[in-house]
Amino acid sequence: MPDGCDNSAGGLAARLGAVRERLARAARAAGRRPEEITLVGVTKTVPAARISAALGLGLTELGENRVQEARDKIAAMPGARWHLIGHLQSNKARLAAQLFPVIQSVDSPGLAAKLARLAGELGKTLEVFAQVNTSGEASKSGLAPGEADRFFAAVAALPNLRWRGLMTIGPLTEDERAARAAFAQLRELRERLARQYPALPLAELSMGMTDDCEWAIAEGATMVRVGRAIFGDRQ
Ligand SMILES: *Cc1c(COP(=O)(O)O)cnc(C)c1O
Repeated sequence: MPDGCDNSAGGLAARLGAVRERLARAARAAGRRPEEITLVGVTKTVPAARISAALGLGLTELGENRVQEARDKIAAMPGARWHLIGHLQSNKARLAAQLFPVIQSVDSPGLAAKLARLAGELGKTLEVFAQVNTSGEASKSGLAPGEADRFFAAVAALPNLRWRGLMTIGPLTEDERAARAAFAQLRELRERLARQYPALPLAELSMGMTDDCEWAIAEGATMVRVGRAIFGDRQ
């Protein structure tokens, strides 16, 4: 049986352990400490029982793309900390603000303002990331890097939001140089914005997935979002 088909709990533990080892090795190779990197397990299409097993193995930061799909999983797993990592439509913003403590896919000032208002109504502070489209691929959402200044000028003073950093999805390529250039662009953008907006805690760089997490860590990722390497290939 190929590794990706092994759905047993033992298989899951081995896979999760291998991913953690990959991340630690990449951190050390970059002269960084493994503890600097947070692993977010991406659970889209993964059944709840399997997510619970991962949670039992200590994978407490979990990411979902779709608000609707996440709803039942979040209700069933109060011990996890959930990140919304997929594009958020305005009409789903209320439900997202109710369900998720962290929203990584904020990509317009209008959405940020709406989330700030909803968080106020819910009496909570939302942790948020600005999603940046560093690859220029039209299929990907996110701010263009050149829009980031105007974006933060518009959202910096909004209440009820805690700006944790920037998020990007790397380019769809096996070319290390091209992938790392996109991640380096996010790192440089974060450094510039952090200088410009010292009041915002823009500490995090959420970048890197199953196929490119080592390159992202080499370029400074503080958070990687990994699905297939932990849970196997999606149907
Ligand atoms: C699916 C997804 C991931 C995880 O991708 P894998 O290749 O399964 O590791 C990470 N980030 C986002 C935004 C995703 O949609």
